[in-house]
Amino acid sequence: MSLGVFGGTFNPIHFAHLRVAETVWEALDLERVLLIPSADPPHKSRRLASATHRLEMVKLASASNPSLEALDLELKRPGPSYTVDTLRALSRRYKGQQLWFLLGTDTLTELDSWHEPETLLGLANFAVVGRPGSDHQPLESLLPERLAGSFIADPNVLKHESGREIRSVPFPPLGISASDIRKRIARGASIRYLVPDAVIEYIEKHHLYQEGS
Ligand code: ATP
Repeated sequence: MSLGVFGGTFNPIHFAHLRVAETVWEALDLERVLLIPSADPPHKSRRLASATHRLEMVKLASASNPSLEALDLELKRPGPSYTVDTLRALSRRYKGQQLWFLLGTDTLTELDSWHEPETLLGLANFAVVGRPGSDHQPLESLLPERLAGSFIADPNVLKHESGREIRSVPFPPLGISASDIRKRIARGASIRYLVPDAVIEYIEKHHLYQEGS
């Protein structure tokens, strides 16, 4: 069976992340989805809670679902958290199993700025879900031009020369983002129903994302 790999800052994890994982798990009949917070993401830095806090929140959010597994893989590796290294490690660990990397349309458009994007695209299939703003665009128009040359386009699937594919998975757009959640916390606004209750309690207990923290 295939495994889902969902990497992200998860700063903090929210209900859209969980719906993405559940939707792709169901649509592609995955065995389970590995949730992997990046320890030291090359792209993001502002108001970043420690990797340990972000991993704990991912564990709390996924605890009740046996199809989700929080993995500390990137926390154990020194240096910047490159997805290509994570996929290499997972390919070795789960030899013979197909890997599906989960991502939103916004992330697909930035893929050319990632470390070794061509290698990345040969290591896993990619399952893309729509994010408000870019959810109705065809896949090939979202793929950065520099990478498009290695693909053959079908309407909902892009075939990579390595045999891997990028597939679009239907997902009703959810306008939830971690940056909006952090802003709400900083101004003292409610984040209920955007984030699981256990994660809200954790954020409050550790005073995360508050003004000045
Ligand atoms: P931030 O607002 O800080 O940029 P984020 O909410 O985008 O954070 P990330 O941890 O950066 O969360 O995202 C991890 C992955 O989840 C990315 O591939 C992103 O596209 C996807 N994702 C996050 N929120 C949504 C959403 N509302 N709908 C679809 N995909 C999402």
